[in-house]
Amino acid sequence: MDNKARVIAEYKGAYKVKNNKGEFLAKVTGKQMFVASSREDYPAIGDWVIINELGEGQAVIKEILPRKTIIKRKYSNKNDSQIIATNIDVGFVVESIGRDYNLNRFERYFAIMHDGGIKPAIILNKIDLISKEELLVKLSQIENRFPGIDIIATSIMEEKGFSKLKSYIEKDKTYCFLGSSGVGKSSLINKLLGKNIVKTEDISLYSNRGKHITTTRQMYFLPATPAGGDNGGIVIDNPGMREIGMADAGDGVDMFFDKITALSEGCRYGDCTHIHENGCAVLEAVELGKIDRQQYQNYINLKKESEYYKMSELEKKEKDKDFGKFIKKAKKSLKEYGHKN
Ligand code: GDP
Ligand code: ZN
Repeated sequence: MDNKARVIAEYKGAYKVKNNKGEFLAKVTGKQMFVASSREDYPAIGDWVIINELGEGQAVIKEILPRKTIIKRKYSNKNDSQIIATNIDVGFVVESIGRDYNLNRFERYFAIMHDGGIKPAIILNKIDLISKEELLVKLSQIENRFPGIDIIATSIMEEKGFSKLKSYIEKDKTYCFLGSSGVGKSSLINKLLGKNIVKTEDISLYSNRGKHITTTRQMYFLPATPAGGDNGGIVIDNPGMREIGMADAGDGVDMFFDKITALSEGCRYGDCTHIHENGCAVLEAVELGKIDRQQYQNYINLKKESEYYKMSELEKKEKDKDFGKFIKKAKKSLKEYGHKN
């Protein structure tokens, strides 16, 4: 009998899927592998799939249902992208107070959320490390820079912000935790689950080894809320996303800098890059202090990055080919003028 299930974990060549009867170890059918042309044709965590139960906890995945939202990262050197998770409603971008705290990083994650159709929210963790006054300053900085985005301030140490976080999570919705390793994603998820399921690592251990050891992604189901229901929401942990910030930021970049986009209507040239052109309305606004110089710089950097990452392998090859042709032509014309080589 075919039925609907959700992919909740990913292993090498197999998946853990869950339906209302339980969990199954599932593989894709040979036919599906045959038609797969890219990694996106394979199941990913968060996917709703049609499975055929084989008994003894085994199943076959026959079909991937259309994805509502996708979080993905594109590789810089391959014409391929990696799906991090699908069918996510809200992406919690987690940053912690500490040496890595950085407002610009939020922007990169928001761009990815925006491109994937996912609502972002901010979790500011480890607020025990600063005073109340410092926290208020940080919060207003975030609010000014990112108006309209929800912020939840938390501390595992001092048990702060959990009731707000819990009430933010709605039944049957899916949440994803994104952020650098060490910010406290596992600790937060464990706190939500009410037990230590997700592996957390001591920060000193982490820095000694220079690498975070968690390698699998997994979906977790929160206990039922007093209001009833099967669960109070589903969360996905995402280790190993340190470099995700660069992928597919095209539209997102524009969204978070729509001030700049609006200004560019006033540029003299339609294809203005806002870097060096005369009559550039954006550069003028920077000079006049109408837009923040750092925000401008961030915009330029992000734009360059996302353009580079958007360039496919084919485009790169075309470029190389053009260059080859150019060299050939140049050599030929040199010969015509009596030069050898
Ligand atoms: P992850 O890599 O994002 O999953 O981070 P972890 O949950 O593994 O946490 C990394 C380190 O930060 C661990 O040593 C935690 O004990 C510590 N940590 C997590 N939350 C807090 C917090 O609110 N305050 C402080 N001071 N430390 C925290
Ligand atoms: Zn311009």
